This record gives sequence, structure tokens and C-alpha cells, in this order.
Amino acid sequence: MTCTEAQSIITAFINDELNISELEEFILHMESCPECREELEVYYALLTAMKQLDEDKNLSDDYSQELKEKIEHTQERIIHLRYNYYRKKGVLFLIILFMAVFFSLYHYLMPEEEVNNVTESRFRLRTSFMEDRFDKPAKELNDYLEKQGGLD
Ligand SMILES: [Zn+2]
Repeated sequence: MTCTEAQSIITAFINDELNISELEEFILHMESCPECREELEVYYALLTAMKQLDEDKNLSDDYSQELKEKIEHTQERIIHLRYNYYRKKGVLFLIILFMAVFFSLYHYLMPEEEVNNVTESRFRLRTSFMEDRFDKPAKELNDYLEKQGGLD
């Protein structure tokens, strides 16, 4: 983050309008850049005093200390959010791993689906039964036709 970028979001930082990655870069810059840090302190004192006057509150004695605490709180929040982020990622990873193991074991352990053997089905039996019944007249007809042919 450049000084210009950092200074352009000072107001957003004071109003708690930055997202987690912006906050991270912003704090990092403020800790390494005395000029921007000074700028932040001035803006913080100015904006906070204006807000306090607006809300009829007493003015703070030490804006510098307040800002320090705000930055510390922000750092704690970043660590907490990052921790949650990685913890969630870890849980997600474990779920995926578990599912992968489960499905490979499932395929490995479950018996293969039984193949329907047509020769043992009722359909086949019925067909054989019908064949027997219809073969008979056909056979008789053949015999008859053979007999007729023999007479000719
Ligand atoms: Zn800077």
C-alpha cells in the first residue's frame, strides 16, 4: 500500500468502514510509515473531536492514546478473523477429506450390485413353459404334414 492509498482511506479507517484485507494493509503501513501515522493521528483527533462535539460528549484528553488503542483492537480483530478464517478452512478441508475417504471406502466395501440373471427370472420360465405348449401343436402339425407328404 502506498502513502497516497493509505492516506485516502484514513477517514474510512476512523469510521470503521474498511474490510479485513484493507485493515491489514492499512495497519501494516501505519506501523512502518511515520508520515502517514502522523497524518492518521491528526485526522483521528480532528474527526473524533468533531464527532464528540456533535454528540455533546466531553472531549477526550488523549487522542493519541485512543488511536493507539483503536489500532491495537483492530490488530486483535484481524488476528481473530484470520484465525476464524483458517479454522473454517481447516474444517472444510477435513469435511472434504472425510467425504473422499468415505466414498472410496463405500465403493470398496459395498458388494457390487447383483446382476439380474435372465435365465433365472420368471420371464424366462414362463417363456420356456409357453414354448413347450406351442411346440407341441407345431410338432403335431409337422408330423401330420409329413404323413400327408408320405401319402402323396
Ligand atoms: Zn505512508
